[in-house]
Amino acid sequence: MKVLLLFTGGTISMVRDAKSGALHPADMATFQSFVPELFVGDVEVDMLPFDPLLDSSDINPENWSKMAHMVYDNYDKYDGFVILHGTDTMSYSASALSFMLHNLSKPVVFTGSQLPVGVLRSDAKENLLTAIEIAATKDEDGNAMVPEVTIFMDDALYRGNRTTKRNAEHFSAFNSYNYPALARAGVRITYQKQFIQHPNTTAQLRLRDKTDCNVAVLKLFPGITEPVVKAILTTPGLRGVVLETYGAGNAPSCDWLYQHLRDAVERGIIVVNKTQCNTGSVAMGQYAVSLPLLKAGVISGYDITTEALLTKMMYLFGENPSNNELVRELLQTPLCGELTKD
Ligand code: ASP
Repeated sequence: MKVLLLFTGGTISMVRDAKSGALHPADMATFQSFVPELFVGDVEVDMLPFDPLLDSSDINPENWSKMAHMVYDNYDKYDGFVILHGTDTMSYSASALSFMLHNLSKPVVFTGSQLPVGVLRSDAKENLLTAIEIAATKDEDGNAMVPEVTIFMDDALYRGNRTTKRNAEHFSAFNSYNYPALARAGVRITYQKQFIQHPNTTAQLRLRDKTDCNVAVLKLFPGITEPVVKAILTTPGLRGVVLETYGAGNAPSCDWLYQHLRDAVERGIIVVNKTQCNTGSVAMGQYAVSLPLLKAGVISGYDITTEALLTKMMYLFGENPSNNELVRELLQTPLCGELTKD
């Protein structure tokens, strides 16, 4: 079994600067010296690092494309892929790759750690070694057990585009609020096969890595002012907006808010309603206060995460530079398990 380890950086790879006391990414050789186990197990592991290694706050759409290319270019040579990545923006990267790697039939497992690999109580080794095992695991028919882009951290394997970083301190940094875990790792790794997606095995992997960053998040809050809403919705070049609403997709009853949204939609901007709640789905029309949003042309994001919705918009706008109708339709369609419509 062969696994390719793509190494982008993150806390897992970091060392403390003696002067400032701040953590910064170290080099590959230092990292490798902390995990000699990597190279003696049943699974053959090759490493492909970013140069330089990055804190995930510096990861951008160009880096998503680079990661997707690294998987695509090496696809036939490996049984699975593990991507070492900082936890801060891991949910965005995992979501983006789930859209970019079309017809994926091999595991791409993101992992990282909350403590650097060289620290005594670090969660790095366990996360890394379990992620490698998952990436190499086959089912009884010899196919990849989890042919999806996932995140493994602490004891849980989640579909990447369903995750959110929920904790800046605990080892269990991620949660998937609207979709069950795909596996749990204890003494054994227990796979929840009924929740794992399987691709059409005859289809070839396709790389679709264009993105368009002309998107924005407009988060509603009690007391939000008209100039703030107007400034966001009239941003030059804007193509898509994630409208973060209350509860089941509700907004304050302000005529100026509806008017700005309607104007934006008429100018061709796609506005998607995403609830600020972690769990549950948007249901526009359930309350009177969400009906005007529907009338303004705002569409539902259902139970998608903000991370998945933003990256899906960037990806769809990048791949469809002038077909807004198609983008509108696809934003309301599950492409790789990122949303549930009922
Ligand atoms: N700042 C770090 C990063 O995202 C945090 C981590 O890896 O957990 O790169």
